[in-house]
Amino acid sequence: MFSLVYTFNTGHATLIGQSTKKCIAYAVKSKRCKICQNAKTKGVPARKHTCSNNWSASAKSMEPAVACEMLQGLMYEGRQVHIQLM
Ligand SMILES: [Zn+2]
Repeated sequence: MFSLVYTFNTGHATLIGQSTKKCIAYAVKSKRCKICQNAKTKGVPARKHTCSNNWSASAKSMEPAVACEMLQGLMYEGRQVHIQLM
């Protein structure tokens, strides 16, 4: 029996345009931030920073979420999405 275990702390995705064959959108989700983690370990407040922690749900749900986020962003900009391959 084989089972997949999702233990990744980041999820990355890019969207490639069908006609241009170029990257038209990308997104990254992360469950960790080194600065926040270090501050927590030391028991002090984290210094002011651009926190990379932007995901708190399961790692398994990161990539579908970023795919939806990118497609919704394109549709919000008024672009048409014809084909989706994942
Ligand atoms: Zn942080």
